[in-house]
Amino acid sequence: GQTIGIIGGGQLGRMMALAAKEAGFVIAVLDPGENSPCGQVADIVIRAAFDDRDALKKLAEQSDVITYEFENIDAEALTWLSDIAYLPQGAELIRITQNRRLEKKMLEQALVPIAPYQVIEHEQGIYDIIESFGFPAIVKTITGGYDGKGQVKLNSIEDLQEAQALVKEKGPCVLESFISFDKEISVIVHRNASGETTTLPIAENIHVNHILHESIVPARIEPDVSEVAKKLALQIADEIKLIGTLAVEMFVSLSGEIWVNELAPRPHNSGHYSIEACETSQFHQHIRAICNWPLKSTALLKHAVMVNLLGQHVKPAFDAVSQYPDWSVHFYGKAEAKQNRKMGHITILTDDLEMTLKEMQESRIWKTT
Ligand code: ATP
Ligand code: MG
Ligand code: MG
Repeated sequence: GQTIGIIGGGQLGRMMALAAKEAGFVIAVLDPGENSPCGQVADIVIRAAFDDRDALKKLAEQSDVITYEFENIDAEALTWLSDIAYLPQGAELIRITQNRRLEKKMLEQALVPIAPYQVIEHEQGIYDIIESFGFPAIVKTITGGYDGKGQVKLNSIEDLQEAQALVKEKGPCVLESFISFDKEISVIVHRNASGETTTLPIAENIHVNHILHESIVPARIEPDVSEVAKKLALQIADEIKLIGTLAVEMFVSLSGEIWVNELAPRPHNSGHYSIEACETSQFHQHIRAICNWPLKSTALLKHAVMVNLLGQHVKPAFDAVSQYPDWSVHFYGKAEAKQNRKMGHITILTDDLEMTLKEMQESRIWKTT
């Protein structure tokens, strides 16, 4: 059969692989880890660093199509790979989304609203910038940040030192106005080479300690706001001539105003609910998009709540599974249940979102912090 090569062996790669295997694809994965979540379900495992050109060459030789499951791959190596392999997503989107400065420029070009921002080139420059922006604001590293790491919130003058230390350590950073949003949502868009697009039903995302805790679908926003959010995501997909999957994180104010926060060029944690709740999951659609197959309907079959299981939740969750027949349980096959490490998730389909949310809130599992 045809072989799909995946760069990255984490849970996103694993769920991509599981979807692709249903259609009969052979899976090859490149990852440095031993027994990675994706490696456990792949047919061919190449154990090496992501920028190891010999390993990439080996992956290219084995694969008919290559995709990736995370955004911090060396963009140069990916560009080099795109010359010797079929990498329909290209390397440009990775180059843009791993750099907040380039990402924000692109979002401006796509004419979508974003929080006012400025690049702090030197630590001294922060005074002038904050004077014109005012408090509160957020300083973010340009590269390498995730789960709120590499960020400093500025509430007052007292916080400037910490932000300066960040710039000193990490180099130029982005300062953006703090948006007092009501909700965070995400729109996941797929596009194939023929230009067909779909969006997944919009997820409302609740973070705890800057890590996604829960996604609620459909997001509890007005239908007209939801339409605008989809339109913005499609506008971005169009601007970059997307092939594959793009997750667009957004803020929504009480009055329904929207700002695009950031992008992920891959299936997204907030789209995991689609495995059970949608006609076509984000992983199936990703595979279809990179193979230039026609895209299928992503219609929502039932309302859903997805809750992440972090290291500290695994034991209580596992003990509780037998009591909850309506839980769909996904563990990613990671050996070490470290604090805050994403170990799995649970999806619940429901006819009564509010009641399910209340049940989840009262569950003892997520009280283990
Ligand atoms: P991820 O793990 O999603 O990649 P990240 O570290 O790249 O996260 P962001 O998504 O930019 O960081 O920010 C993390 C969280 O911080 C957001 O989900 C949001 O809750 C909050 N946040 C970020 N920027 C702003 C802002 N301008 N105004 C208000 N809150 C913000
Ligand atoms: Mg991010
Ligand atoms: Mg984010």
